[in-house]
Amino acid sequence: MDEPALEPWQWTEQHWRKVVNHVRAGRRLHPTHWKDNARCAVALSFDSDHETNELRGGGKSIGRLSWGQYGHRVGVPRILKVLQQHDVRASFYVPAVTALLYPEEQRQVIGDGHEIGIHGRIHEMNSVLPHAAERDLMLRAADTLEQVTGVRAVGMRTPSWDFSPNTLSIAKEIGVTLRLFVDGRRRLL
Ligand SMILES: [Zn+2]
Repeated sequence: MDEPALEPWQWTEQHWRKVVNHVRAGRRLHPTHWKDNARCAVALSFDSDHETNELRGGGKSIGRLSWGQYGHRVGVPRILKVLQQHDVRASFYVPAVTALLYPEEQRQVIGDGHEIGIHGRIHEMNSVLPHAAERDLMLRAADTLEQVTGVRAVGMRTPSWDFSPNTLSIAKEIGVTLRLFVDGRRRLL
């Protein structure tokens, strides 16, 4: 019998081990110590989804589209102001459609010293897409961000907060890097 057609409580040990082993963490990345012997490191990151949260599902809600514009008009400027007040750098994950709607916002984010990472084209549910469609959207999203900001993105947060079986290989192809800040220096892993 086909294992995936079974209910989970009917799976064989071989099958549930196979499912789990597909997602095992690799080597431990925790550094021996943080800069100035701090107890921990904190990463601040934001999604500048704006109207794409409504567009991703084909929605045209006036109310929800207006929430998206509020993110551009009020949300991001407030965030940038607070970050500037505390002299803190952060990462902003921006769908390509957001970047095209609000290119000046993205240039200001970069100008303030922050990072912009890939976040899909229209905040699509990448984890359910066919391989070719997911790859095409991510490659084009990376190109669009570079055209708008002048900087090639090296970070990524998937719009579904999940990976398809193909997401990792596409991220590698794009050149997304896993980064850790150790002793104040950025190390590529
Ligand atoms: Zn998002």
